[in-house]
Amino acid sequence: MTEQEIRSRLDVEHERLIDARESLVTGGFVGQAEGVAIGELSSVDQHPADIGTETFTMERDQSLLEQIRSDLDDVDSALTRLEQGTYGLCEACGGPIGEERLEAVPSARFCLEHQQMAEGGVTRPARTGDL
Ligand SMILES: [Zn+2]
Repeated sequence: MTEQEIRSRLDVEHERLIDARESLVTGGFVGQAEGVAIGELSSVDQHPADIGTETFTMERDQSLLEQIRSDLDDVDSALTRLEQGTYGLCEACGGPIGEERLEAVPSARFCLEHQQMAEGGVTRPARTGDL
């Protein structure tokens, strides 16, 4: 990939994440937390099952939002590294991340080995193209 291709892929990803965050914030739990929907909800006779569903949705949104935030962080840092000329190098060992991996995940910060260490064996939701 040329630097321009990388940059445009990162830009697209950045925009997608901003959009996703936006729609979560306006349609998800954050809007409710601001009191828009809370008054409406409390006036409705809710069954415990409904409340459970609501809680589940909020937790799901919360973890989605965290995921988006960390992905945005990765994209931002990839753009910074692109400017500094260190793009494509593992942040932990400085070794090459690998063309193939960068093709799949342009915002990758670590080589495969250190990515696994960074995640500490915690299974993240599978993303398309995540190697
Ligand atoms: Zn490494």
